[in-house]
Amino acid sequence: QKPVPSDIVISRSCVPKPVDRLAKEVGLLSDEVELYGKTKAKVQLNIVKRLQAQPDGKYVVVTGITPTPLGEGKSTTTIGLVQALGAHMKLNVFACVRQPSQGPTFGIKGGAAGGGYSQVIPMEEFNLHLTGDIHAITAANNLVAAAIDARMFHESTQSDKALYNRLVPLSGGQRKFSPIQLNRLKKLGIEKTDPSALTEEEITRFARLDMDPSSVTWQRVLDTNDRFLRKITIGQSPTEKGYTREAQFDITVASEIMAVLALTSSLEDMRQRLAKMVVATSRNGEPITTEDLGVSGALTVLMKDAIKPNLMQTLEGTPVFVHAGPFANIAHGNSSILADKIALKLVGPEGFVVTEAGFGADIGMEKFFNIKCRYSGLRPHVVVLVATVRALKMHGGGPTVNLQDFLSYLRNLELLENGCSNMRKQIENAKHFGVPVVVAVNGFKTDTEAELDLVCRMAKAAGAFDAVRCSHWAEGGAGAVALGQAVQRASEAPSNFKFLYDLELPIADKIRIIAQKIYGADDIELLPEAQHKVELYTKQGFGGLPICMAKTHLSLSHEADKKGVPTGFILPIRDIRASVGAGFLFPLVGTMPTIPGLPTRPCFYDIDLDPETEQVNGLF
Ligand code: ADP
Repeated sequence: QKPVPSDIVISRSCVPKPVDRLAKEVGLLSDEVELYGKTKAKVQLNIVKRLQAQPDGKYVVVTGITPTPLGEGKSTTTIGLVQALGAHMKLNVFACVRQPSQGPTFGIKGGAAGGGYSQVIPMEEFNLHLTGDIHAITAANNLVAAAIDARMFHESTQSDKALYNRLVPLSGGQRKFSPIQLNRLKKLGIEKTDPSALTEEEITRFARLDMDPSSVTWQRVLDTNDRFLRKITIGQSPTEKGYTREAQFDITVASEIMAVLALTSSLEDMRQRLAKMVVATSRNGEPITTEDLGVSGALTVLMKDAIKPNLMQTLEGTPVFVHAGPFANIAHGNSSILADKIALKLVGPEGFVVTEAGFGADIGMEKFFNIKCRYSGLRPHVVVLVATVRALKMHGGGPTVNLQDFLSYLRNLELLENGCSNMRKQIENAKHFGVPVVVAVNGFKTDTEAELDLVCRMAKAAGAFDAVRCSHWAEGGAGAVALGQAVQRASEAPSNFKFLYDLELPIADKIRIIAQKIYGADDIELLPEAQHKVELYTKQGFGGLPICMAKTHLSLSHEADKKGVPTGFILPIRDIRASVGAGFLFPLVGTMPTIPGLPTRPCFYDIDLDPETEQVNGLF
């Protein structure tokens, strides 16, 4: 076998077709496409209306077993599978993937464009700024953060009347409410439109949000792995008159605005979600929203282009939507609903849309079904579960960290067979939702025939519709044709989709169902802060939201070093937070770093630009 060159060498060896030609090929009209250079374009949302009557294609979600820290090839398999279905089996296809955070690109992890001969190209465009969506989210998120502290500062230094006069300034001798201010009056139950008609009591209620600084849940964000921003003190300049507060930065993809982008279904819906985001609680216990801060319209303006999916292509010229990339732990880790919906229309009823859910099936897939599918109304036809021999050996009792090479060469079929317990459990997890499962055994060059066969046999015995070996990393789409055929057969099999829990159940019951059925826990334990939040959110009317568990992806349990299928554990819920605009509650299982740090030797040491050719070097 020929050695496989690095991802960037492969990516660069292939000249992408002009994106306007690609757009035409997939059935987009020229006025629906906004070109961003030669290899990227945004698709306007008016297409949703034009294709309203077109039946949807087949919907496939790619997920995985519990991975090693290196990742087991979900992105690579997503791209390999569409290359097989599209370039080799000549079906209409679309891949829908997340836009990666730029933080890890310069930090510790490789890119997310797939790998080997199954990649989105040009990979440097994909992994860097793309079309600026993440920058738009950073700008929108930080406008909210600035609005919160400025408002608390102004409220602390002004009387009610002075505050009111500044919030509703004189213009041409008259005061007038802005439309967003009228929305706030309506929310307060004040049925008046004339600013001079408000009583003193109404002026106070309107002008004072009275946010409790200790209740602020909105953080500043940056798309850089900067660990020193995990805890900061803001307001240290004398101009802020002693108004200081402990705060923190998160990575941009952890912003609720990213989750909103991924879950929204239209511009109007995005406007509503951006208005509903809860940023703090007032001193009398009321949730304070972005609409109360008056910033929701401006956020929609900042996000108006980010909402349009980005069109790119694979190494074999099949289309890809790259859109949204919510953090997979405190958010739901799936690409956008809009991209999936548009792609399903474009491929038509015989075509396939393959979308990827982050992390293992216990996290990304569970959230795909219970959150994303609930909001989109879409029902998948097939689950593709990616498994690797190396990860299964780890689950069977092999070494877990820094010994991956050793793991690959470790010849021990008993270890592998034991480790298949994790795959069996993840197959069972997918089957809870009533959708057929095809296991894709992502082959590495060190795997033996006996190992690959054993995994396929074990997968079928565990109830998979089919299990196939694939080699798309080394061979491109040709290496995933058998997988494509299995997926096509599975898409015709009967499926009986169902959610795991009803939204009307109490918050704790919903968490318990996920913990017991998906993770295999005996029970959950709500620690005092979580118990307090259950009561608060139920009282505030957010109890009916779906649940987005923030748990390690490296184990089915809450302890990353427990491999295989851990049993006999109680899942501790430390705290619960709410992303009301995005539309979920997220219970925190243990502590979650929300902005990564840089290692001693980050990836950026390898990255440089050739000034002659303007080529990016050293990106994975
Ligand atoms: P995930 O999406 O599950 O995190 P990726 O598809 O990003 O995983 O793959 C993780 C890394 O492993 C990437 O660098 C990719 O190129 C590499 N990889 C994936 N499959 C193979 C394979 N079969 N052989 C060698 N490397 C692979």
